[in-house]
Amino acid sequence: MNASANTRRLVVTIDGPAGAGKSTTARALAAQLGYIYLDTGALYRAVAWKANTTGIDCSNPVALKDLLQHMDLHVTLEDHTTRTIVGSQDVTPFLRAPDVTRVASTVAAMPEVREWLLPIQQQFGQAGGIVAEGRDMGTRVFPNAEVKFFLNADLNTRTSRRYQEHRQAGHDGNQEDIRHQIHDRDTRDQSRNIAPLVPATDALVIDSSPMTVDEVVATMMESITARL
Ligand code: C5P
Repeated sequence: MNASANTRRLVVTIDGPAGAGKSTTARALAAQLGYIYLDTGALYRAVAWKANTTGIDCSNPVALKDLLQHMDLHVTLEDHTTRTIVGSQDVTPFLRAPDVTRVASTVAAMPEVREWLLPIQQQFGQAGGIVAEGRDMGTRVFPNAEVKFFLNADLNTRTSRRYQEHRQAGHDGNQEDIRHQIHDRDTRDQSRNIAPLVPATDALVIDSSPMTVDEVVATMMESITARL
């Protein structure tokens, strides 16, 4: 289905832990609806990439603030892909590297980073017609979104999905390491003081463990279509 001229252009949010299938389903929904797809994890990853490249201690708020003051971050949205530009460099290919993933949830717990990224994310929702995925889309960035989902899956399922992704991307790693990394990252995301990973009170919670991607997308499309 393609959104026609007389349908509303909604803000759709998908939050949830690592490996629950947010990116795949968000991309599919955006394609079906003719909406833009915003991957907000890429923004936190870009800050982590910059912190790693510069060699700063990213748990130090003063060093982080200084880094952000000199950081020029742009996002371009094309073909349902978020491309992330730092300065004049397209850093998208570097953002899924394990050392960036490790640091992303540390910088994401810093209020300075979250405040800095807030308007960058919100500007994309102004005209509606967006599927935004992350950890605090429905709770903090787009609290008035018309349709909110919280996509979950059990740890085993999420681990094996991430393991397949790692292998396809040519990264090393064994399943046990990946399981620990996902578990640690979720714990950090759920327990931070600012914008922790929790379902919005008005989100539809979906457990994708026993579902195919097509089933998840179909379930979400049903909720979205009811609001168009
Ligand atoms: O979704 P992704 O795995 O790319 O996100 C990387 C990290 O960025 C997450 O573990 C989380 O710490 C942080 N993040 C966040 N809020 C968002 C998106 C991502 O805190 N909206």
